Amino acid sequence: MSYQNELYQQVILDHNKNPRNFREIGDTAHSCNGHNPLCGDKINIYLKIAPGDVIEDVSFTGSGCAISKASASLMTTFLKGKTLAEAKVVFEEFHKMVLGDLDPATQQHHLGKLTIFQGVREFSSRIKCASLAWHTLICAIDKTGETTME
Ligand code: ZN
Repeated sequence: MSYQNELYQQVILDHNKNPRNFREIGDTAHSCNGHNPLCGDKINIYLKIAPGDVIEDVSFTGSGCAISKASASLMTTFLKGKTLAEAKVVFEEFHKMVLGDLDPATQQHHLGKLTIFQGVREFSSRIKCASLAWHTLICAIDKTGETTME
C-alpha cells in the first residue's frame, strides 16, 4: 500500500470513529438533507452564517458509509471561519479532484488536507459518497431543503 493510500485509510477510519461537528445547529435558516441513493448515504448539513458571509459554524448529522461520513466530518473542520465565496471555490476544486479533472500534485488549489480524497477518483461508485456533503453544503448555503445525488 502506498503512503497516500495508507494516509487515506487512516483519515477515513479516524473521522468515521470520531466524527467532528456531529450535531445539529438548531437556530439556523441554513440546513439541507442530502441523499445518495446509490449507496444509501444520508447526510444533513447545518450552517450558521455570520455577517460578511463568514461561516461561523457548520455541522452535520446522518448516516452513511465511512467515506461519506469522513468527508462530511473533514469538510466541517475545514470550512469554519471561511467565507461562502471561499467555500464555493473549494467545492468546485473538490468536485474536479474526485472526478480526476484536477491533479492536486501539479495544479494550483486551496484544498489543503482535503486532497486525501483524491484516491476516490479510482473508484467511481465512491465519488458520490465523497461529494455528498459538499453538494449538501451548497444546498444549505442557498436555502433550506433537500438534495439528491443524481
Ligand atoms: Zn457511500
